[in-house]
Amino acid sequence: MTTATNSILIRGARIVDPSQGMDRAGDLLIVEGRIGKLAPAIRDGNLPKGCILVDGVGLVACPGFIDLHVHLREPGYEDHETIATGLEAAARGGFTTVCCMPNTRPAIDNASVVDYVLRRAREANGVRVLPIGCVSKERAGQQLAEMWELAQAGAIGFSDDGSPVANPHLMRQALLYAGGLGLPVINHPEDPGLSRNAPMNEGRVSNRLGLAGWPAVAEETMVARDIELCAITGGRLHLAHISTAGSVELVRRAKERGLPVTAEATPHHLTLTEEWVRGHAPDGPLASPLTYAAYDTSAKVNPPLRTRRDAEALLAGLRDGVIDAVATDHAPHPVTTKLVTFDEAASGISGLETAFGALMTLVHRGDLPLSMLVERMTQGPLHLLGERGNGLGSLREGSAADVTLVRLDEEWLVRGADFASKGKHTPLEGVTLKGRAAATIVGGRVAYSAVGGLVVRE
Ligand SMILES: [Zn+2]
Repeated sequence: MTTATNSILIRGARIVDPSQGMDRAGDLLIVEGRIGKLAPAIRDGNLPKGCILVDGVGLVACPGFIDLHVHLREPGYEDHETIATGLEAAARGGFTTVCCMPNTRPAIDNASVVDYVLRRAREANGVRVLPIGCVSKERAGQQLAEMWELAQAGAIGFSDDGSPVANPHLMRQALLYAGGLGLPVINHPEDPGLSRNAPMNEGRVSNRLGLAGWPAVAEETMVARDIELCAITGGRLHLAHISTAGSVELVRRAKERGLPVTAEATPHHLTLTEEWVRGHAPDGPLASPLTYAAYDTSAKVNPPLRTRRDAEALLAGLRDGVIDAVATDHAPHPVTTKLVTFDEAASGISGLETAFGALMTLVHRGDLPLSMLVERMTQGPLHLLGERGNGLGSLREGSAADVTLVRLDEEWLVRGADFASKGKHTPLEGVTLKGRAAATIVGGRVAYSAVGGLVVRE
């Protein structure tokens, strides 16, 4: 997919590679797109000719981050995002691989759309794209899509995300057929009969604001349904963006039963609560006009931001491995779709560029070890990807040279206007985060760099 035009030596970085249980200072040599050597010290005499030397002191080097859940919007919604802008946002966020959801126009429900997405990705910055195909034709929830054809073309799983697979019989068939192909069905767990298009969590804040509420049980009944369908079909089930304490418990029990169930949680559900719907009030000259509004539409997301208890349960689930991976659910929209009433506003957060910094809040607070965070962004996603993830998520010698360099202590102000993504909406607008990707290398090629001497290669 990518070619290395040079070798790179990163010297004196802190190497955090959960695949090898490694957290220590060392040197990392990248040669011809692969990890050539990882050692406490690599001498100059052993370097390939023309090797680029990078001073890694103050940087953490980890395997490139893998995001199981992004919306790249192309084809069809290029005013929201294009594959090129989405992958630029991914690179800036430290992601070397992203799995893109099929709710495009046309939807990714046949091989030609998979081919199109992969071709556009190849023309972009080198970040790897693993497309997810539809469960149902045109995401209409009626008939199964051509799953075999999608798998042959390169789909790594199936989802109607944006919408749930509401029909239980269709979900059962999907798990059976996808299971036969060895691929997961990724469901967006939401019983629409219970959530009723409500714009925020059902609870104290929705009452206060007079907004309809999307209750936790609307997620949990579908999580429970999907787990039982997984049990009778033996198909692989992945639950997207679980957001409630009850869902964490259901997944925990499913895993105890030995069922092939995996789950992801988003940075926003792990770090924010429904209180953010009321609008954040940053100090200083950059305070947004939203400070004076009754609510902040950039905090509207589906599933909605939940309570503090839910966020704590998600964190506990992430720590003990009930939740396999963090996934952003990056959902870019044009700015005008958020400059309306809360009911009318589009759902979704532009999340690729703030994910790592937001999650580092948990690390700085002492609630999540750094190595575990990196694990859930590199090895954890491989539970879903299976053999499609071979060679990824590790700095072992011979692996693909997908490397993310981060600065743990860099403080930076979130400004949506500065995002590479076309989606500029974030509830973190005006918030200072601590921790940021410094460079992103995919297959030995530099896709993003804010590190001296390391230059992005076209
Ligand atoms: Zn979803």
